[in-house]
Amino acid sequence: MTGKLTVVGLGPGSPEQITPEALSAVAEATDFFGYGPYVDRLDLRPEQRRHASDNREEISRAAAALTLAVQGEKVCVVSGGDPGVFAMAAAVCEAMESGPAEWRNIEFAIVPSVTAMLAVAAKAGAPLGHDFCAISLSDNLKPWDVIKKRLIAAAQAGFVMAFYNPVSKARPHQLGQAFDILRTHLPGTVPVIFGRAAGRPDERINVVPLSEAHSDMADMATCIIVGSTETRLINREGQRPLVYSPRSWMAGKA
Ligand code: SAH
Repeated sequence: MTGKLTVVGLGPGSPEQITPEALSAVAEATDFFGYGPYVDRLDLRPEQRRHASDNREEISRAAAALTLAVQGEKVCVVSGGDPGVFAMAAAVCEAMESGPAEWRNIEFAIVPSVTAMLAVAAKAGAPLGHDFCAISLSDNLKPWDVIKKRLIAAAQAGFVMAFYNPVSKARPHQLGQAFDILRTHLPGTVPVIFGRAAGRPDERINVVPLSEAHSDMADMATCIIVGSTETRLINREGQRPLVYSPRSWMAGKA
């Protein structure tokens, strides 16, 4: 008997940002795998089983979920935000590619959701209105030298950048280094948005110029958006400024 594996995105934190498609996938499943706090967000029936695990155990979690799906269960693997952005959908694909053939033959679906950078961008204005890229600053899965090269290339190419995984206890210094690198390639006036816990009760959005951006302003629940030379502020009385990137790039600028 073959079951089903669905990788479901739960959005950035607000229950209102969970899609109806994600809710139906959750309602249909019997077994739930994911990082503890994400599995805890689910409102499950008594017969639905939780298999919570630590944040770093992505491949073993994917393997356990695939094993149960092959046994005929309806399995859900949950991610915060979108499951395809620095999250479980790719981990499950990695396990499927290298695992037993039966893992590749199950019914498999990925349910998308709102990723952190979109939730933060919407709170700040429209900083992703022109070309942008997303970079994970974690060097757990790639060398820091590669990250540095990508920061420089993105700054030189005029991309707005969204940073995921900006700092952790094990990596306290890299975000400061990233800002130092960017300050040598971009004007200090470029707006930087620190969006923490977007969509959750403890949400905090701060906007500072690149010249004042500091690693203390972020933690692991923060997604940072660094503007381009075109990104600008609209000041408003008694409200946070709107940050936006116009849709067109001024001719002659690189
Ligand atoms: N799949 C997730 C990203 C996982 S990587 C998504 O699509 O959003 C984890 C990183 O995502 C965190 O370090 C942080 O940079 C960002 N993040 C996740 N939820 C967030 C939220 N509610 N507000 C701001 N950033 C968030």
